[in-house]
Amino acid sequence: AKTDPLHRIQQYEHALGEAVRQRRELAQDLRRALETGQLKMHYQPQIDLKTGDVCGYEALVRWPHPVRGLVSPAEFIPLAEANGLIGRLGDWVLETTCEEVARWPGSPKVAINLSAIQLNDPHLVGKVLQALVSTGLSPTQLEIELTETALIHDLRQSLSVLRRIKALGVSMALDDFGTGYSALETLRQFPFDKIKLDKGFTDGLSDGGRSRAVISAVVTLARNLDIPVLAEGVETADQLELLNMVGCEQAQGYLIGRPAPAENGAPPAVQDVMW
Ligand code: C2E
Ligand code: CA
Ligand code: CA
Ligand code: CA
Repeated sequence: AKTDPLHRIQQYEHALGEAVRQRRELAQDLRRALETGQLKMHYQPQIDLKTGDVCGYEALVRWPHPVRGLVSPAEFIPLAEANGLIGRLGDWVLETTCEEVARWPGSPKVAINLSAIQLNDPHLVGKVLQALVSTGLSPTQLEIELTETALIHDLRQSLSVLRRIKALGVSMALDDFGTGYSALETLRQFPFDKIKLDKGFTDGLSDGGRSRAVISAVVTLARNLDIPVLAEGVETADQLELLNMVGCEQAQGYLIGRPAPAENGAPPAVQDVMW
């Protein structure tokens, strides 16, 4: 009798209700985390493939939840977007990252991820300027990462915001390149300064010639646009070598360094993997 349809439906509804309840609870926890300063920034190094030198860092937000442990941004960013918290979270990321990186020696570059919702904030450009002015971070040190899907909601509005941010001297990177519907159209319409090739392409490198041919074509395309390509999610020395062979300019991934907190006013150290 335990497997009769009615019982199964009740079980299913119970599980669904439980999931909704947990999500609501996590959203409440996130609100509290923002108020009590639980969030932290981690930084992942990016390297120039020709020299092996660090050419910048990507800022990635972390939430050490007091009970659940480290919650992934892949989980809490969408939650923040759905619960009206992304504005405050995004502001905090912008201010905290600029503040921390402004103190690092050598004026390195840092890339910050923006959500689609932040792009619709009429005060966004003013907030970026304010963060730079109040922390003393040079605009040339700051890069903003946007995905194609963040742009398509309102193309004209997105283009205007992008141009105004660039006018500050801040650069723009197209994130997760190749995962959307119209990567080429996005590149044609928006003046990006860098292409971040999605991890999926890096993963495909070892499968043989097809991925290599595609990446190589993206590199050629980017050269004609006079912008570099950064490969995401590099985990093996083989991948790094193949990327170098096809002429990819920059790389980021666990092989080079995992995201880690800044310490004593300096960026996290990078393992010397291959040079
Ligand atoms: P993303 O912008 O594509 O960031 C790259 C993700 O890949 C990061 O995950 C990073 O830790 C991970 N990663 C880097 N190298 C490797 C590798 O070699 N192997 C593997 N398997 N993964 C690697 P993370 O930090 O969990 O962030 C997930 C996503 O959450 C990000 O994807 C981004 O979309 C979003 N996110 C993170 N921080 C922020 C933020 O401050 N603001 C906003 N709006 N979104 C953020
Ligand atoms: Ca990113
Ligand atoms: Ca990415
Ligand atoms: Ca992503």
